Amino acid sequence: MTTPTSFTVSTIASIATPFKQKFAIPRQPNLAKAHGIITFEEGFNDIHMLKGIESYSHLWLLFIFHQNIERGWKNTVKAPRLGGNATMGVLATRSTHRPNSIGMSVVKNNGLVHDKGKAHLLVEGVDLVDGTPLIDIKPYIGYADSVQHASDKLDDISPIPQRHVKFLDTLKPTLSEIDKKYSDFTSLVKAVLAQDPRPAYKQKLDNDEKTYRVTLYDVDVGFKVKNSVVWVTELIHLG
Ligand code: SAM
Repeated sequence: MTTPTSFTVSTIASIATPFKQKFAIPRQPNLAKAHGIITFEEGFNDIHMLKGIESYSHLWLLFIFHQNIERGWKNTVKAPRLGGNATMGVLATRSTHRPNSIGMSVVKNNGLVHDKGKAHLLVEGVDLVDGTPLIDIKPYIGYADSVQHASDKLDDISPIPQRHVKFLDTLKPTLSEIDKKYSDFTSLVKAVLAQDPRPAYKQKLDNDEKTYRVTLYDVDVGFKVKNSVVWVTELIHLG
């Protein structure tokens, strides 16, 4: 039998997340407790497809790196975990520049909610940009998916940075206003910035004059690294 060489896949759902751009999204799921709301597309908005999903604490999301498709794929990619200059084969990484642009993330299942006749699936720990198209959802099955003695040599070379994150005192009133709207805002900012989202070659710098910006929910967050601490220097509520 010959192997088929191409297939058509459809977007079955999209996910809303606090991450409005790729910059500063954690490298992998569950590094920040970022929430996602999955909404099903016409033709897949069928509650029967989700029957029994509450049995699982975690789910695999299969999705398309839609914001990278136009840039195509590469056989080797710069590995951020190797400092950003050394390359590895694309299939030896979780890079976004891959054939077929398919990504996979395991996330916490926070259950279904119903709104105006539509079911939405709530998840937590996402590493996806707002609006990412999902092509499949599967339960995480511990007995098979959890591999006890799995090893990852890159972990020893390059642990994920964990910096202290502080807010300028002058931002405290704005922060408490934003926290009323998004109860996880402060913890999300801390988790995201603790991982030092600056480019890999900058992460060595404990002092960096540049102000970086990231939009989380509808808040423009400005931050700087000074004396090895990530300082949040601006919060602009765009909403
Ligand atoms: N956990 C997934 C995997 O291993 O397939 C994603 C890993 S990938 C290294 C994570 C990065 O993908 C995020 O930090 C973000 O910059 C980028 N990203 C997230 N959603 C994307 C999208 N829809 N299109 C392009 N890039 C995306």
